[in-house]
Amino acid sequence: MSHNPLLMPVGLPDFENTRPEHVEPAIRQLIAQADAARQTLEKNAQPNWSAVEALTDAYEPLMHAWGVVNHLMNVANSAPLREAHQAIQAQVIMCFMRASQSQPLFEATRALRDGPLFSALSPAQQRTVDKRLLDARLSGLDLQGAARQEFNTLEQELSELETRFGNNVLDATKAWALTLTRAEDVAGLPQSLLAMTAAAARAAGDAQATAAKGPWRLTLDFPVMGPFMKHAQRRDLREQVYRAFITRASEGTHDNTPVMERILVLRARKAALLGFKTYAELSLATKMAPGVSEVDRLLEELRTASLGHAQQDLAELQALQPGSPVALWDVEFLSERLREARFNFTEEELRPYFPLPVVLEGLFALLKRLFGITVTPANGTAPVWHKDVMFFHVDRDGQRVASFYLDAYSRPENKRGGAWADECISRRRRLDVSTAPARLPVGYLCCNQTPPVEGKPSLMTFREVETLFHEFGHGLQHMLTTVDVADVSGMRGVEWDAVELPSQFMENWCYHEETLLGLAQHVDTGAKLPLAMFEKLKAAKTFRAASIMLRQIYFSALDLELHHRFTPGQGSIQEVQQRIASRTTVLPPLAQDRFLCGFTHIFAGGYAAGYYSYKWAEVLSADAFSAFEDAGLSDATRVAATGRRFRDTVLALGGSAHPMEVFAAFRGRGPQTTALLRHNGLAA
Ligand code: ZN
Repeated sequence: MSHNPLLMPVGLPDFENTRPEHVEPAIRQLIAQADAARQTLEKNAQPNWSAVEALTDAYEPLMHAWGVVNHLMNVANSAPLREAHQAIQAQVIMCFMRASQSQPLFEATRALRDGPLFSALSPAQQRTVDKRLLDARLSGLDLQGAARQEFNTLEQELSELETRFGNNVLDATKAWALTLTRAEDVAGLPQSLLAMTAAAARAAGDAQATAAKGPWRLTLDFPVMGPFMKHAQRRDLREQVYRAFITRASEGTHDNTPVMERILVLRARKAALLGFKTYAELSLATKMAPGVSEVDRLLEELRTASLGHAQQDLAELQALQPGSPVALWDVEFLSERLREARFNFTEEELRPYFPLPVVLEGLFALLKRLFGITVTPANGTAPVWHKDVMFFHVDRDGQRVASFYLDAYSRPENKRGGAWADECISRRRRLDVSTAPARLPVGYLCCNQTPPVEGKPSLMTFREVETLFHEFGHGLQHMLTTVDVADVSGMRGVEWDAVELPSQFMENWCYHEETLLGLAQHVDTGAKLPLAMFEKLKAAKTFRAASIMLRQIYFSALDLELHHRFTPGQGSIQEVQQRIASRTTVLPPLAQDRFLCGFTHIFAGGYAAGYYSYKWAEVLSADAFSAFEDAGLSDATRVAATGRRFRDTVLALGGSAHPMEVFAAFRGRGPQTTALLRHNGLAA
């Protein structure tokens, strides 16, 4: 192989010439280079800033190339690419682990932290050192002898248990299916669900299955179960599906009960070894929330404000079903009937009002108003992975500050679903080389909307417009950073309960009349979005808001209780669940409810003692938006001033300072729940 595009300095990737066969040789070579550079540093680990930069230098080429490979996995997937990725992935992870587990590098970082040079570093540099040190400590590098040994064994077992927990949920979900054969069984189901369940029946061996005639195979996968619970008119079938769902992975060979208990025991022990009183305190050590009591207080404020409204929500459902008390398997069904009655519009009706070019124009105009930045198309100036991918530059005061790719359309054959923002290149300037210019950030923004058809541009649903705004919020934090230190520039280094602040903040603008009407224009007639329609969209936003909020409070409070106050081995997890539910639900769970056995977020994902982050971030984003409301949304001058302040704090500083400081720098005080409650129609 003569030229390998993945072996190049950090810069715009050569997407047009990168092939799956380039992956293994390039990554192998970059791993070897990173290892060699690390070993050199370890032999002569200096407690100074140049050593910090040198470690970044050692790993950046590998990180960048591996980032490109992962990006291609998401947007240009193929069997050969998957094989190449699979063949080398474990070695990449090991290579990064050798750095994070390096004792000499840890000692040097600690010496820098405790030495005379530290106080001369900038806040961003100090935070980088502190974060590297904390990460190392939480990886057990500060432990000696038997404690270190126990920690490593325990980490190993925990990771196996979490994998087993997830696999049990997958297997238990797969093990359950219900085949429906009669028309009355599927009464009320939408066409798309009939097609999906007939396809599932065919895949399971019913070669003749059709959407119109069945048979239809129900499963507990969310895309099937979600719409089924909303639309199935057969109450007994809804009950059957509901009961199967809440007892998933709670018995037989896939029983997660003992796995869950053991995970809690090991997490508590891990926290103790690292010097924390509970696992929740360990979890919060790397988050924005100052402590468990602050999270408790926030959840309690939201709970008190939503409980009464959630009871009213339930009474509304009860009125639709006189004579029979609303059961847990009626809630989704009745809510959907109420939604139809109240907001009689469909996502499809709105599509013609949101052609992508008009939406982008409106969005870019908003960015100009708020942040004083100019977005200009630059298609053709950077290689792309697909002809539909757009490329843009971002300028501020006539100066280029960033660029981004926008891959807007769905391509089921090789692009994953959902929407996301990611970094291609991070901003960085070597602070130990005074003449070095800053490397400018480049971002990826990816959505999955309908491609243009029949000469018409891509027409978006309102939900897709919101998603675009959301991802732009992440992208802006990456692109408008002014931080030069790679570890904490852009989205990097932001505590994860604060990561969704800029993204959810941007979503708020979709409910701002001037902004939304400014980006909606009928594709055929050029007509504006009717004001009545805008009002309906706004009203739909708060539909059953209290019930939805209460449900998240239930999960958050339960997660925190299990990781903070509950002592594994003493008392039962179910008792804890019932106790928390008695305060946070208006329709108590069944005695047989074992939903925790399927709660992968906290037992197999990264949300352990962190589920509250959803609500925490919503409080931040609503409170941030309310600064604009306070300034007066129709006062262009004050909106611009507030926007510049948001740009110069939240977007510019990103992870370079503690998020509580960043938030206070913008808002002039700490976060409050008032705005979130008001936006949800729950203000006192
Ligand atoms: Zn997000």
